[in-house]
Amino acid sequence: MAAGHPDIERVLVTQEQLAERITAMGAAISADYRGRDLLIIGVLKGAAWFVADLTRALDIDFTVDFMAVSSYGNAHKSSGVVRILKDLDTPIEGRHVLIAEDILDTGLTLKYLARNFRTRGAASVEIAACVVKEDAQEEPMSIPYVGFVIPNEFVVGYGLDYSEHYRGLPYIGLLKPAIYEGN
Ligand code: 5GP
Repeated sequence: MAAGHPDIERVLVTQEQLAERITAMGAAISADYRGRDLLIIGVLKGAAWFVADLTRALDIDFTVDFMAVSSYGNAHKSSGVVRILKDLDTPIEGRHVLIAEDILDTGLTLKYLARNFRTRGAASVEIAACVVKEDAQEEPMSIPYVGFVIPNEFVVGYGLDYSEHYRGLPYIGLLKPAIYEGN
């Protein structure tokens, strides 16, 4: 749905900012991975939108795979214990893996996945995160490709959902408090 959704309190990252930043991230990734066997792994469902735009900003050869995981915990907080719902379709041994994630909150999901991919023999494992919440990471890790740093609040849009809704918003924003009330 286009701008001006009635449930959105405030837009934090606009469609134009996303487009510009992701183009720049694509250029940086292209420069770093040129000539290497790059596998981009998106974490479903939220990262699908980011992966679609990021890969179109690359001018190098690559392949894409997706994983689906669910983190035990409630809707607003992950626990770090991750269950694999859909595994990769392809072996990753010897390949350069770039995990594309929509949002990094505690970082526990990505930490688990990075460890998992290293165990499977990936040549390297790095992370590209569209948005990172400031001060949220419990054990900060270095993330070479970050789109935006945002306040530590629950956001929706550009793949991010609230109860499976709002993923199609072309921007990232805060929901009106009334939407949470009653839940
Ligand atoms: P982490 O393991 O980094 O704490 O959590 C990562 C996952 O939690 C994300 O992939 C996303 O599914 C969910 N998540 C964390 N923060 C938000 C948020 O602000 N909005 C939405 N919609 N999901 C979030």
